[in-house]
Amino acid sequence: MKFYNIHKPEKKVNLTEAVLTGIQGSEGLFMPEYIPTLLDSFFEQLPQLSLQEIGIAVAEKFLSEDVSKTDIQNIVSEALNFPIPLVNVTENIYSLELFHGPTLAFKDVGARFMARLFSVLNKNSSEKIKILVATSGDTGGAVANAFFNVEGISVTILYPSGKVSALQEKQLTTLGKNISAIEVNGTFDDCQRLVKQAFADVSLQQKLKLASANSINLARLIPQSFYYFWAVAQAWKQNKKQAIAISVPSGNFGNITAGIIAQKMGLPISKFIAATNANNIVPQYLLNGNYEPKASVQTISNAMDVGNPSNFARMKVLFENSWEQMKASINGFYFSDKETKAAIRNLYTRFNYIADPHGAVGYLALAAYLKEEKNTTGIFLETAHPAKFIDVVEEALSEKIEIPQALSALASKQKVAGKIDADYEQLKAILLA
Ligand SMILES: *Cc1c(COP(=O)(O)O)cnc(C)c1O
Repeated sequence: MKFYNIHKPEKKVNLTEAVLTGIQGSEGLFMPEYIPTLLDSFFEQLPQLSLQEIGIAVAEKFLSEDVSKTDIQNIVSEALNFPIPLVNVTENIYSLELFHGPTLAFKDVGARFMARLFSVLNKNSSEKIKILVATSGDTGGAVANAFFNVEGISVTILYPSGKVSALQEKQLTTLGKNISAIEVNGTFDDCQRLVKQAFADVSLQQKLKLASANSINLARLIPQSFYYFWAVAQAWKQNKKQAIAISVPSGNFGNITAGIIAQKMGLPISKFIAATNANNIVPQYLLNGNYEPKASVQTISNAMDVGNPSNFARMKVLFENSWEQMKASINGFYFSDKETKAAIRNLYTRFNYIADPHGAVGYLALAAYLKEEKNTTGIFLETAHPAKFIDVVEEALSEKIEIPQALSALASKQKVAGKIDADYEQLKAILLA
């Protein structure tokens, strides 16, 4: 398998270049040169396979030219060392709980896979890698945790000041050692822009071996496709006959892009539902065919506050630049904070299910879709543990919720972060210091 940057499609590169060394410039939007398909026999066995077995089978399709079979097995098994349960919420609605990893958000899947893959790809190089990553909340913590103490790799995380939850901030500012955090006086879009500027800066590249850990990196997208196969397999075990629709609470649209890749590999998903908060650029596009990026607005589902989703360009490639094709596969819905809070309350009082604000948006979109599609099983991705957004969730429930040990342990830790304005020269000075 070779890869290509969607802005330079004629040049084919190997895996190392696609995820590690070639990510600079042109936003680093690499794609596999084709989407591999899985055999009918794989889908027949699917309900019997473990999450790790599924991950290995899918990963081999993309990595086997560049990574040994043993390394692929180790990377996948170590990355996916936590459960991803499919929980029945009511009748035909299920929640795929992606938050049982160490930092309690789905970002752990991609970050843990990526950290292990980078180690393998860099093992014969003496150069130190610097990972630069912007976070709207959960990526930073997951990347920090995944790369903490990894030999030869240091991480710098940019986050928007005052726009991540207190617990999210602690997750990315308290580890120390090879992990450092920079608080940016601005929005997530500013952080993302600064990272893009760094990757476009040739003079910086000459001094540092920079790599990206944002969802633009294919090394995160590939593992995120695994759990779509897993989810469908678990749903088949419970109800074989129905079509399956999957609702994805979306910000940068990496998660849904991974799902579309799984679908193109042969996984029968009848419909994707792109669920957003007020940052509704993609749902609007699906309605009227106009893609109009905007400044992001702040919401209670902060990890989805993205005004110009990075992976939209990949989605266009996957649908051959056709609005009609994309519209036929994806329905878009968006919801206000008020609706989201009401959904958190409703899910609890009616079904005894506690959702986080992102999962609640996914649920709302799924419920809206299923109103018209009766004979469909719906799955929404529950992308973070509700305790990560404790203030919002407790207010919506008028009740205290339990805090997992992984989060409560953070309370006593000291935040350490640099602080800059949304100004590239200030970032560059810190990176070169
Ligand atoms: C990152 C994140 C999202 C959005 O995922 P994308 O891949 O950027 O669309 C949704 N929910 C949570 C909790 C997240 O951390």
